[in-house]
This record gives sequence, C-alpha cells and structure tokens, in this order.
Amino acid sequence: MTLIETTDKPAPASDISLIPEQVAALRTSFESGKTRPLAWRRGQLQALDQLVSEGSGELLEALKQDLRKPALEAWSADVGFVKQEVRLTLKKLAKWTRPERVATPIHLRPAKSRIVREPLGVVLIIAPWNYPVQLLLGPLVGAIAAGNCAVLKPSEVAAHTSGVLAKLVRRYLDPECFAVFEGGVPETQAILAERFDHVFYTGNGSVAREVMTAAARFLTPVTLELGGKSPCIIDRDVDLEVAARRIAWGKFMNAGQTCIAPDYVLVHRERENDLIEALRRTLREFYGEDPGRSQDFARIPNVRHHRRLAALLKDGDVAVGGQTDEADGYIAPTVLRNPKPDSPLMTDEIFGPILPVLAVDDVAAAIEYVNQRPKPLALYLFSNDAKAEEQVLSGTSSGGVCVNSTLFHIANPELPFGGVGPSGMGAYHGRATFELFSHHKSVLTRGTRFDPKLMYPPYTKLKAALLKRLA
Ligand code: NAD
Repeated sequence: MTLIETTDKPAPASDISLIPEQVAALRTSFESGKTRPLAWRRGQLQALDQLVSEGSGELLEALKQDLRKPALEAWSADVGFVKQEVRLTLKKLAKWTRPERVATPIHLRPAKSRIVREPLGVVLIIAPWNYPVQLLLGPLVGAIAAGNCAVLKPSEVAAHTSGVLAKLVRRYLDPECFAVFEGGVPETQAILAERFDHVFYTGNGSVAREVMTAAARFLTPVTLELGGKSPCIIDRDVDLEVAARRIAWGKFMNAGQTCIAPDYVLVHRERENDLIEALRRTLREFYGEDPGRSQDFARIPNVRHHRRLAALLKDGDVAVGGQTDEADGYIAPTVLRNPKPDSPLMTDEIFGPILPVLAVDDVAAAIEYVNQRPKPLALYLFSNDAKAEEQVLSGTSSGGVCVNSTLFHIANPELPFGGVGPSGMGAYHGRATFELFSHHKSVLTRGTRFDPKLMYPPYTKLKAALLKRLA
C-alpha cells in the first residue's frame, strides 16, 4: 500500500455532540482547584515525560506512516523536542511560579508589590500536521506548568499520529483535566463554539482568522503561530559549502514542510552559480543520486498538497531535482532559478521541498525585496560582515533571525519563538510558554499601622505641592 493511500484515509473523529459536556467537565475540574498545587503540575509533567519516552516507538512509527519522517528527524524535532521542554520546565517550575517581588514607588509606601502567576482556566491547543507531536504537546507543557486544564486538537492530516496521541494522552494524563478531540474542520469548529480561557493555534493564516473570530465571541485571547515566506539572504563573501549545507538541511528536513524553512534565497549576483553548484553537491551528499530512494527524505502527506507543490515547479527553471511521483507522495529536493516574480511560487508560502534562488545586487537590494512583502516568521542571513548583519537586523522585521544558520533559533528554549504581523502573534518555548498560559496578577499590599493623610481630601495646596515633589 502506498503512503498516499494510507494517509488519505479519513482521520478518526470525535463525537461532536459530546464536546460541550466534556469541556464543561474540564471546567468543573479546574474550578475544584485540583490543578493549582505544584505537586499536581509536577506529577502531570512527569507523566508527560513518561508518555513521550514510553510512547516514542509508537509515535515514531505513526510519523513514518503519515509523513515518512526519518526516525532521527522525528526524534529530534518531535519527541525529543517535547522531552527537552518538559525537563527544563520541571527543573524551573518552582522558580517560575514563585511570586515576583517588584519595587514600590516612594509615594505609595509603605507597601509591597508582587506579581503572582495564576492559571487561566481551560485552554484549547489546536495543532497542524507537519510536526504533530511537538506542536500539540509542546504548548501543553506550559499549559500544565501554569496549572490549566486543556483541550487538545491534533491535525486530521497526520491521522496516524493523531490516533496515537489521543490514546497516549488518555492513558498517561489526568482524564479529569485533559481531553483530546480528533477530527477535521467540523470537529474543530464545534470545539471553537465552546468558551475557553485561551486559544493556542498553530497553522495557516486563513484558518487563524476563523479561530480568532470564534474566540472573539467570548473575548478569549489567542496565540497564533503561523507561517509565511521566510527569506534567506546570502552575502558575497561567505563560505558557500557551509551555507549550502545549512540551508539545504533547514529547507529539506521534513520535505520542506517546516514553518521556518527557508522559503527562498536572495543571493549576491556574483555567487548565484556557485551557490547552485554547492546546493547540487550538498543534495547528492545528503540524499544520494536518487533522493526518492533515500530513507532520510520525507514525503508530502496527501494528494492535495502534492498537486499544489507539483504545480509550483513550472514557476521557475529547474536547476536541481524537479522529479515528482504523486502515488508515492514524492517531490524531489528541488532548486529553481529565475522564479517568476508574481507566480504562486513567489507570492505564497511554499511549504515543500522547492527552493527558488533569486540573484540580487547587494544586501541593500535584498532588504528592499524582503520589506516589500509581509513580515516573515524567520529570516536567515549568511554573512561575515558585521555591518551587513546590523543592516539586516535593523532594516527588517521578522519573528526571529538566524545568522549563518537556519532553524537553530527555534531549538533554544531561552529564545521566545513566534511571528510578527501576518506570521503570528504571541511567542512561546521554555519559560515563555509558562508565561503565556499564566495570568500575571498584580498585587499591592499595604500595612495599616501608618496611614499618611497626604492622598485624602481635603486637597490642600500643601498636599498638592508635596505629592508633586514625591511623584
Ligand atoms: P492543518 O491543515 O493541520 O490545520 C491546522 C489545524 O486547524 C488542524 O487541527 C485542523 O483540523 C484545523 N482546521 C483546518 N481548517 C479549519 C477550519 N476551517 N476551521 C477550524 N479549524 C480548522 O495545518 P496547516 O494549516 O496546513 O499547517 C500548515 C501551516 O501552518 C503553514 O502555513 C505553516 O507555516 C504553519 N505552521 C506554523 C508553525 C509555527 O510554529 N509558527 C508551525 C507549523 C506550521
């Protein structure tokens, strides 16, 4: 049986009629106070650690069935990623949850001020199919750490992984506090008809608008982790062998289906040919003469996405790759030159293993190109020139930046990850995920022994003069 046949079978769907009562049950659990003690949160994080450790075999197998994800990619970017987040959070939980003392201005003293993190309530996490484990369970780590109940909605496009995740969450996590609903558009819309205290959505921008509209009915805040066309700028004097390896790795991992994959390359005109040759050598080194036979190259999950990508191949001249096999979900790692400026290749997010290369005169021209388009999720710069680096950093806006690398910024939990403008709103990872799922409650406490009359009526000139001096 081919990959396409298996992954095109409909994902299991939850019974829509049960959604309201199950969400209500989670709310009852939250209101009971059960999720607040640190011991409960720690216990659930440990259970999640166990879930990904003991379930890793099944998860890797499901990822293989859905996307033919190479085991090493599946481990590092899905299962291992979640483990790293859980371990860090367990280590830091006590520190992050401690009330934070802040200064009190002199005219408000004597008083103490602090910020207390409290859970939001019942939150909703909606995940896409490309990193289906990371993008469902990664946000969950922070939701648990902050003491919330959660509804999880995996993507129906990665149907096998959705099924395994649903089974494992039910087996390992507290069923009174966590629910997984499987299915597609009708199920997600039925879930969104319920009230949540936060909605965390990862996926494309048009569905994000529907998510935000649904959340607006309840004034529910949202985090939107979206995509876009992430540019890669290559300056003249760089080591192209290293640049080609790092770009090809970031682009062709998971067959280019990575939200922060370099979408297109803007290379100094004098280095265009050399870059294409370096990419050709790199691809042969990574995937052999025929990438279709490599165990290290993933597949497109369904016919719809495959046809969309195959159609993009005509929007430029094939320099490397270009082969397709719909029945196998295969699109060869491809480099295109002379991309047509107003074609879908250059206006829409590619989200597949096709890399257009455009020649530009210099870094300033590359900056201008980037700034004429929507703000991207990531921007990559290859340069050894500190001035060019500063020029790009101060002259462009993007969710994040990697200099002389690709994707690495997402792997550092100390760096909040998220978009800007149409590439998303809000950021997470590490402490930022905990903060996102917490309400920051400001508390000011005054003693009662000393009660200066300065603030109270009658408002005399003397009081006004003293207050102005203190403020
Ligand atoms: P998808 O089709 O799996 O959709 C995401 C979720 O939305 C699924 O759970 C799906 O059931 C639900 N959904 C789909 N249509 C809906 C509708 N009409 N109403 C309500 N819910 C609906 O995934 P996708 O959108 O194809 O994901 C790819 C996109 O996600 C790309 O643009 C990519 O850049 C972006 N992405 C962003 C990040 C990030 O962290 N910023 C990560 C991964 C992917």
